[in-house]
Amino acid sequence: MQVKDCVFCKIIRGEIPSEKEYEDDFVYAFKDINPVAPIHILIVPKKHITGIQSLEKEDTSLVGYMFYVARIIGEKKGVAPCKDMEGGYRLVFNVGRDAGQTVFHLHLHFIAGRSMKWPPG
Ligand code: AMP
Ligand code: ZN
Repeated sequence: MQVKDCVFCKIIRGEIPSEKEYEDDFVYAFKDINPVAPIHILIVPKKHITGIQSLEKEDTSLVGYMFYVARIIGEKKGVAPCKDMEGGYRLVFNVGRDAGQTVFHLHLHFIAGRSMKWPPG
């Protein structure tokens, strides 16, 4: 289920400190140590999956659940878009080194608190 030397597995086990934003049986979310925006949270499944590149069909509902947790966090942080679609946040999976993935334990970036550009760099 978890991997001994994985940095995010260690965070989930409490062996490396983190600033918790959300936790339940399936997901742990914490502040990114090197934020790219005023709000930058990582939503991480407790199950060790290296990334979307190795996602199995049996775990697809877990990925859907990570998006639901993003919705909860957006509301908790007060950045969820309102009826006129003001406000908002960006959700990002970096998949592989060329896409910027540096930690090979699946994680969804929740980024908010400033206006974002498109396309991303
Ligand atoms: P990625 O580059 O998509 O793999 O994202 C990995 C993210 O993990 C980066 O934004 C890092 O800043 C973040 N990160 C790495 N180590 C830690 C840590 N110990 N605590 C919090 N965030 C971390
Ligand atoms: Zn892991």
